[in-house]
Amino acid sequence: MAIFLKRLELSGFKSFAQKTVLEFPAGVVAVVGPNGSGKSNVADALRWLLGEREAKQLRGEKIENLIFSGTPKKSAMGLAQAAICFDNKSRWLPVDFEEVVLTRKVDRSGVSEFFLNQELVRLKDVVELLAKSRLGARGLTIVSQGESDIFVRSSPLERRQMIEEIIGLKEFRLKKSQSEHRLENTIINLEKIKAMIEELEPHLKMLRRQTSKWEKRSELEEELRSLENNYFSFKLIEIKNSLAALGRPLTASEKEIGQKQKELEKFQGELEKIDELRSRTAELSAKQSDCQRELGHFEAKLEILNATGSEVVEYRLEDLIGLVEEIKNLLESSLSLEKLEGLKANLERGLEKINNFFSTQDKSLEKSADLLKIEAEKERVVKKLESLNSELSRLAGNEKLLIESFKSIEEKRKEINNLENEKNRLVFEKEKLNLKLQDLEIRLNQIGRSMKEFDDYPNVQSISFPQLSEIERRMFKLRTDLASIGDIDLAVVKEARETEERYQFLSHQSADLEKASADIKILIKDLGVKIHSDFKEALKLINKEFDNYFQLMFGGGRAKLKLEIQSLESEADDLNEGENQDSEEIGDITETESSTEKAGIEIDLNLPKRRISSLEMLSGGERSLVSMAALFALISVNPPPFLVLDEIDSALDDRNAQRFAELIKKFSEKTQFIIITHNRSTMSVADVLYGITMGEDGASKVLSLKLNNES
Ligand code: ATP
Repeated sequence: MAIFLKRLELSGFKSFAQKTVLEFPAGVVAVVGPNGSGKSNVADALRWLLGEREAKQLRGEKIENLIFSGTPKKSAMGLAQAAICFDNKSRWLPVDFEEVVLTRKVDRSGVSEFFLNQELVRLKDVVELLAKSRLGARGLTIVSQGESDIFVRSSPLERRQMIEEIIGLKEFRLKKSQSEHRLENTIINLEKIKAMIEELEPHLKMLRRQTSKWEKRSELEEELRSLENNYFSFKLIEIKNSLAALGRPLTASEKEIGQKQKELEKFQGELEKIDELRSRTAELSAKQSDCQRELGHFEAKLEILNATGSEVVEYRLEDLIGLVEEIKNLLESSLSLEKLEGLKANLERGLEKINNFFSTQDKSLEKSADLLKIEAEKERVVKKLESLNSELSRLAGNEKLLIESFKSIEEKRKEINNLENEKNRLVFEKEKLNLKLQDLEIRLNQIGRSMKEFDDYPNVQSISFPQLSEIERRMFKLRTDLASIGDIDLAVVKEARETEERYQFLSHQSADLEKASADIKILIKDLGVKIHSDFKEALKLINKEFDNYFQLMFGGGRAKLKLEIQSLESEADDLNEGENQDSEEIGDITETESSTEKAGIEIDLNLPKRRISSLEMLSGGERSLVSMAALFALISVNPPPFLVLDEIDSALDDRNAQRFAELIKKFSEKTQFIIITHNRSTMSVADVLYGITMGEDGASKVLSLKLNNES
């Protein structure tokens, strides 16, 4: 015999004012006592501990009615507390404790708390935990007083729930409804996110259009930059190489020019002497002609002197002319004279004059002295002339040499000129290259770059001329394109990035939610399939037992539990056989499956002696019997850990009460029973008997009447 329920402790709970402990050491515990003593309060406590939230289900108007309200002799309590202790050695409750104590408290403010082994837990967790162990506050775990026909009186759906709880499907049903709830929330969230995405999309599209233009811009910029890099680095290297190539010939030509210049200067120095030579020659030539004239003069004098023999008298021409003039005048005056004396006188006077003129002392001495003097003079002039002539001929020799020098100078000048021309060509070339370099720098500055960037530019690719012009064309095109794209508005870029991020975030969320909703749908479908197939499976077994117990209690007849929608049931059968691939789907769960899985349970009866068309036609006792047959059928297929039955045997006749007691005994092997009863047959099968009495003070008290099954 298995023990699941070890103990119940009550304190301030309804009529149990003081702390009361009921031990459940055996399979069948009967609670007996007079009406109104508080027996049903024990069942209420158990139902409350199994998670019941509604005061009505606990026979109160509000939950505070659970707290001992006080009697004239005993004051009210502030707190109702109940605790149930489970033996969990077999781990029938899926928690890792040997013993599980569930404690529930409620105070007058209505605040209710649950504890699992002193740990505060949520009601939801308790309900889930118990469902896994096929226990619940509603259904058949606790059958209240006056509800012995509960199975018959319940709706088809409630019946199904009762069955599901006992066969352990409540856990999956809870999971399924939680999943459905989650799915609903997921779908709501998904719709919200989708609406947000939809709202964002046009704006994002606009921003994308704008930024994609700019993205293209950076593509173009990249291409332009790479072209610029190639182009300018190549151009720079080209110019620099050309400049370097000019250096050597330029310095060589400068050097050569320098050399030639020196040579020229030398020649020019020599040339200066020519002027001196010329003026000297002129000077000498003048002297030469003077000398020659002088020589002629002396030679003429000498000739004259020599022609007059030794009497060479030299007269002065003017003196002679004067003499002639005087004589002439004397003669002319003589012509007019008539007297001879006068004439004679004139003649004498003329003669005298002439004699006077020619009368000289030492005339011959004088003549030889002059000759010597003139010859000496002539000799001097001749010598002088000779020296002049030799000097002049020497000078003439020198001039010849100098003319040659002059020619050399001309040649040098020509050479220098040629060299200068070459040098100038090189300098011009250099100048041109420098200008090109400057131009390049200006062009680089214009595009916001500097020459420095290209100082150590690696791997300069050589570019052919047609390629260069192609590159130039392309760069021009890129610049025009970039200009037409316009400048990037950073605020718009930022907004685009943020909007994109938000869009991505929402899209991810949407995808996550889609995925989650798909997963939940699959889970719901799987749970539905499981619930459906397990239920169908169990129903078959239950029906077999139900029919048996029905026949046992009614002495014949037939009974069957069937799914409310027969047509769907058969379709569900098909489903079970895996032929649902073509079914039309709503979401991911087929309509058929979803309906079948929710289909209620109808009771189909054939009484042994009469026909009934509806359950309403059954008597109260009969309704209890049908309910009991169903209960026993259920627990025989899936024995729950315990059942609390509150006077469900009250409507039974002795024979059936006897049968009931026997069945309780039989099932107590696997299920613990807490039975509130006035029935002796039932009491007789109880292992433990508790008597409840209402004391003078209006509080319930427990008496242990039988601790062991002595029967
Ligand atoms: P019967 O055999 O007639 O079904 P019972 O033994 O099941 O009777 P209960 O219905 O369990 O009796 O107990 C009812 C008693 O509990 C009443 O006397 C009622 O006054 C008392 N009671 C119920 N709630 C409270 C409460 N909050 N405070 C004090 N007493 C209470």
